[in-house]
Amino acid sequence: MTASDNVHLHEINKFGSMAERWWDPQGEFKTLHDINPLRLQFIQQHAEIAGKRIVDVGCGGGILTEGLARLGADALGIDLSEELIDIADLHGLESGVNTHYQKISAEALAEQQPESFDHVTCMEMLEHVPDPGSIISACARLVKPGGMVFFSTLNRQPKAYLLAIVAAEHVLRMLPKGTHDFKTFIKPSELSQSARSAGLELQGMVGIEYNPFTKRFSLGNDIDVNYLAAFRRPE
Ligand code: SAH
Repeated sequence: MTASDNVHLHEINKFGSMAERWWDPQGEFKTLHDINPLRLQFIQQHAEIAGKRIVDVGCGGGILTEGLARLGADALGIDLSEELIDIADLHGLESGVNTHYQKISAEALAEQQPESFDHVTCMEMLEHVPDPGSIISACARLVKPGGMVFFSTLNRQPKAYLLAIVAAEHVLRMLPKGTHDFKTFIKPSELSQSARSAGLELQGMVGIEYNPFTKRFSLGNDIDVNYLAAFRRPE
């Protein structure tokens, strides 16, 4: 890694230090486990998965990557944390799913293998990098014309500060303290604008809503906190 890479080393180290607990459904990454079926549902509403080659950018321990593979995708997960790539690989072997993992940046993979993937996913990652626009543009280069690119991130709205940081990290303790920094959150208009500049067309956006009484997540119209977006690269 060089200083010019689009990466915050403290972010990679923070996630990497929790690698061993990534797959504990009650551990620090419980939220990612809980929202995973909703993310897969959204992706399936916009794209066919079975038999498709998909790259999952910033895959962490592979929760989404494995979900895609279970639905029949040939799934490659990439991340810059060595610890997480190892955990993801090991878990994939144990699960016997069609996953591959590589420690490489989105930008470098886009250079090596442009237009090579039927679809691209990049979830809960853009808010952890110095230049999200560079990741968005790399995702647009990775996908084949006609393919879909999916992002999820947190909205820079006061409500997201209250729910994703104050409530989730401090009151309900759903996420480790320090997981998120409000300044790095991305408004839907900013995500759409970056994606448009990268040549992608917005197909749909949906919110991930949390009900503190039932402790359940659901997809809904409220995109003020955590949201999913689907883009298409035109033919
Ligand atoms: N996408 C996964 C994990 C989200 S956590 C999921 O939603 O289940 C954020 C991940 O982004 C961590 O695994 C972290 O190591 C990774 N990450 C942060 N900066 C990165 C970068 N510049 N390139 C690749 N991965 C990065």
